[in-house]
Amino acid sequence: MIEIKIAGKTPCLLEPRKLQITAQANEPLDEVLPILYLAIPHSQYSKAFGSVTFLLEGKLVTVYSSGKINLGCVFREEIAVKLLEKLKNLLLKALEYYEKHGAPDPKLLEVRKKLNPIEIYSYLPKTNCKECGEQGCFAFAAKLANGEKTLQDCPKIQLPQYINNKTYLEKMLQPIKL
Ligand code: SF4
Repeated sequence: MIEIKIAGKTPCLLEPRKLQITAQANEPLDEVLPILYLAIPHSQYSKAFGSVTFLLEGKLVTVYSSGKINLGCVFREEIAVKLLEKLKNLLLKALEYYEKHGAPDPKLLEVRKKLNPIEIYSYLPKTNCKECGEQGCFAFAAKLANGEKTLQDCPKIQLPQYINNKTYLEKMLQPIKL
């Protein structure tokens, strides 16, 4: 059972009225890092540093393979406690996934790494119809890559003739669902 405890509180460098919180899990988290990366859209994974960084309720969170956790700056410790509770649930789901399926297929990591506007664009309908509110498909692809848009925002790709492209993009954006 994963437990997470707050390990440090220091004033936030950029916003001194806020607190920078570090926490520590009671066990190493190396197995769950690639799973988190594949399950959390727009997360960043560094195998070399043994870390995954992502937004949780709008706060930047970095989880390290050692079990160390860095939280973005928060106004009060109670906010950090709630965020850590949510993070714990996420880690438990990732561990459950690992116990059921083992380490993710490296091919999934490769697909996820290819997530960039050019690759996304190649799977969009390329009609530049602007129904998504963007100037065209490439602008949409850039926003999809950074999380400002979702596939649901493109009405065209919902059409039956694009089903394969849509499925591939969904897999690329979120290869694992926890
Ligand atoms: S709605 Fe879809 S097809 Fe139309 S411009 Fe936007 S991304 Fe391209």
